[in-house]
Amino acid sequence: MAEGLLNQMPFVNPFSEPGTWLRGNTHAHSTRSDGEVSPEARFAGYREAGYDFLVLTDHDVTGAVEQFCTDGFLAIPGAELHPENPYGGDRYHILALNFLEPIDARAMHVREVLEAIQAGGGIAVMAHPYWSGHQLSDYEPLRGLYHGLEVFNYGASFLNGTANAELIWDAHLDRLGSTFGFAADDAHRADADVGGAWIMVRAEKRDIASVMTAIRRGAFYATQGPSVTALTGVRDGDRVRIEVRCTPAAAVRFKGRTFSGRWQGASDGGLLEHAVYECRGNEKYIRVEIIDALGHKAWTNPIYLSDILGS
Ligand SMILES: [Zn+2]
Ligand SMILES: [Zn+2]
Repeated sequence: MAEGLLNQMPFVNPFSEPGTWLRGNTHAHSTRSDGEVSPEARFAGYREAGYDFLVLTDHDVTGAVEQFCTDGFLAIPGAELHPENPYGGDRYHILALNFLEPIDARAMHVREVLEAIQAGGGIAVMAHPYWSGHQLSDYEPLRGLYHGLEVFNYGASFLNGTANAELIWDAHLDRLGSTFGFAADDAHRADADVGGAWIMVRAEKRDIASVMTAIRRGAFYATQGPSVTALTGVRDGDRVRIEVRCTPAAAVRFKGRTFSGRWQGASDGGLLEHAVYECRGNEKYIRVEIIDALGHKAWTNPIYLSDILGS
């Protein structure tokens, strides 16, 4: 993949890509740091829960995990790294996916940490922005050095209800440019934290390289349960039409910048499996949320209108 600013990545539609859907969690802990179970038990727990891959992201430490790959289940190394924040906010929590370098992130500048993750072939994700109290000022100096942020962190919902970071994701998409939205468990406990939020990745093949390539390109969506089955963004004259198909939903939200977009509820207590939004031109981007009858959500990555209109 060509190097370049990660906030200028073109939209890749996972629903029109060849390959297979793989379910994975990109944030979990074991007894290598403050998790309650061994790495072996952590990988087994996700495998038995029906996942296709898990990235083990213990605090400040990485290590080999290939011994936990079995029967098509992908065990991916990683870490959660904690450099200081020189920009006014609290210390960073940065996930390094598919990263094996033993770096001392607490002694490094955050920029050096993000550069080391890139140089090591990893993918950097900013964890739980709301839980960390982070604002755009904590991200702006680092633009282009990370791939995404956690729009939903399941573990934070148990701690103090700071799981949902839609607000800062939207602010980022509008003011700082594209970045991808991840949902993850941040599992610490044995079972109670497993299976609350994950990503669905459109991978060419069932191997770690294909999963990482797909994540790097944004060919995935985040979810607490609902499935997205089709998404199109097409040009219609000088307008863009976005269409989505999904598992039965109480509502579909097409979210653009500030007040643009539309919330569409099902009528007469029914459920939606299809929704269309005709862009007005003031959206800048649209990302789609599916909300099921239980209130569980799925989040697609953003579609920038300029990618479709070619302007
Ligand atoms: Zn954290
Ligand atoms: Zn964590």
